[in-house]
Parts: sequence; structure tokens; C-alpha cells
Amino acid sequence: MKIAILSRNKRLYSTRRIVEAGELRGHDMHVLDHLRCYMNITSMRPTVSFRGEQQLGFDAVIPRIGASVTFYGTAVLRQFEMMGVFPLNESVAISRSRDKLRSIQLLARKGVGLPVTGFARNPDDIDDLLNSVGGEQFVIKLLEGTQGIGVVLAENKKAAESVIEAFLGLNANILVQEFIKEAGGADIRCFIIDGKVVASMKRQGKEGEFRSNLHRGGTAELVRITPEERSTAVRAASIMGLKVAGVDLLRSNHGPVVMEVNSSPGLEGIEGATGKDIADLIIRCIEKHADSKNTRTKGQG
Ligand code: ADP
Repeated sequence: MKIAILSRNKRLYSTRRIVEAGELRGHDMHVLDHLRCYMNITSMRPTVSFRGEQQLGFDAVIPRIGASVTFYGTAVLRQFEMMGVFPLNESVAISRSRDKLRSIQLLARKGVGLPVTGFARNPDDIDDLLNSVGGEQFVIKLLEGTQGIGVVLAENKKAAESVIEAFLGLNANILVQEFIKEAGGADIRCFIIDGKVVASMKRQGKEGEFRSNLHRGGTAELVRITPEERSTAVRAASIMGLKVAGVDLLRSNHGPVVMEVNSSPGLEGIEGATGKDIADLIIRCIEKHADSKNTRTKGQG
């Protein structure tokens, strides 16, 4: 098969591994920088070009679109979908999962475990919002943040009020969540491919840090997850409509709660912690499904 990977840089670990795994299985792998792709949106013959050449004949496309370029990246992916190319994750599913508030609303609607979460825009409503979230400590999140940047722990209500006022004063969109103290600065990353958890790891924040992000100095180790954690992760990915996803869970007193569903989960941490060949599993998933008839939306929506 001829397979495109939408990635800014072919030297990135995840991109390299997917190219390697595809070539090992005899596929023709091409890395396209989505920001260098340009499109011709005509009704009968949509095209994508890259460095002066029309990109034709692809059977599948693997999106590895960073959060900062979601808008343009998903537009390029949608164009491939319009051309009938099979996307590993569909553009609509990626857009859905990139919007933290929308994701939480969708997951809540389906009864998936979540931290109690509040959302407001007007500083006058902060007090009531904090009371409705409840508890002593609060986690405040910038909706646009990634890799733990813009996630703040407020030790008490007064501190929470000041942080929220500051963020709202800067016109930022924020979420306020109950602090899941019992998670002890650790979270569980479940790597989902095609409706199954294929690997999971526990990430532990460094001493004194409540955020477990590896980018913030956290460490990862193999973990056994419970059946409830497994089914929560699988449901979260499926509600988002993602074939490949990294679902982050916290172990709370009220069961597993979903922090985030990531549509371009990195391979380095999970392959390192579990020793599993995730890139190979991704390629096998494409082999199983890449048939243009399997593209649900064909770029709609
Ligand atoms: P990002 O998308 O920037 O990584 P997250 O929402 O995943 O932001 O938060 C980063 C980390 O902070 C999580 O992996 C988790 O370890 C910790 N964290 C986030 N929210 C909470 C919470 N409500 N209670 C306890 N820890 C949290």
C-alpha cells in the first residue's frame, strides 16, 4: 500500500517508527509536512500538492498533527478524506478530541467517569462555580494548554479565585476541576488501537509535582490495569471516534476518571515502558481497514 504520514518532521521518534514498521511490512511510506501541503478544493477533483507535486494514489493516511496546528492539519486530512483516502483517525474525531470542553461534554453525556468539572466565563460566578465543583483544592486548566502547561493546582479556594480571575482577565478559556489527590501525581496512559488497549503505562510526576507529563520530568513504567480501567479507556476512544488514541486516566476514589483523549499519542514513552511494537500494530490496523469504503465521513462534518 501507499501510505502517507502527516507529520512536521520525519526525524520525530513516532514518525520514524511508523515509517520503519510500514517498510518492514512492504509498504510505500511517505512523510508529508501538513503545513507544506496545499489544496485545490474543486467539487469533482479535490487535490493535495506537496513541493510542486500532486499527491495521488494513497491508500491510507496517518495523521500526526500537533495541537498547535490542528486547524490547518485537519483541513489537509479532510482533503485526503474527500479524495477517498482512508484516514487512520478521521479529521472530525481529531477536532472533537482537541477541544477539551467539548470532549468532556461528550464523555459526560455517555456516563464516562470524569473529575467533577466546572466551566465559566464571568468572574462574578467564580464563587458559585467553586462551590459546585466542591472540595478544598482545585485544578485550573487553560483550554488551549498541552503537555501540562497551563494546568495549575490551587491549594485553597482563595488561591483558586485569584488564579481564575487572572486567567479570565487575560480572556483565556478555563476549566476548574476537583483535585484528584489520591492519584498521587500519577496517571495511566492507555494506548488504544482499533477498540483494544494494546499497551498501558503508569506515569509518575517527579517529586513534589502533581502533573505526571513526561515532558515535565515524569517517569513511566509498565502497569496492569483493571477491567474497569480498560473498558473506560476503550469507551472514551470510541465516543471520540478515534481508532488510535492515548487515553489518560486518573485512579480516583470514585473509580477511573478520564483526563484526556489524545488523537496523536506519542510512541516513544509507551514503547520504551512496555517493550511493545506499537508502530507495527498501527500498520496492521491500517492493513485491516484501509478500504475507502471504511471512511465514514468522506470529509463531511
Ligand atoms: P495536558 O493536556 O496539558 O497534559 P492534563 O489535563 O492532561 O493537561 O493535565 C496534566 C497532568 O496534570 C495530568 O496528566 C495529571 O497528572 C495532572 N492532573 C490534571 N488534572 C488533574 C486533576 N483534576 N486532579 C489531579 N491531577 C490532575
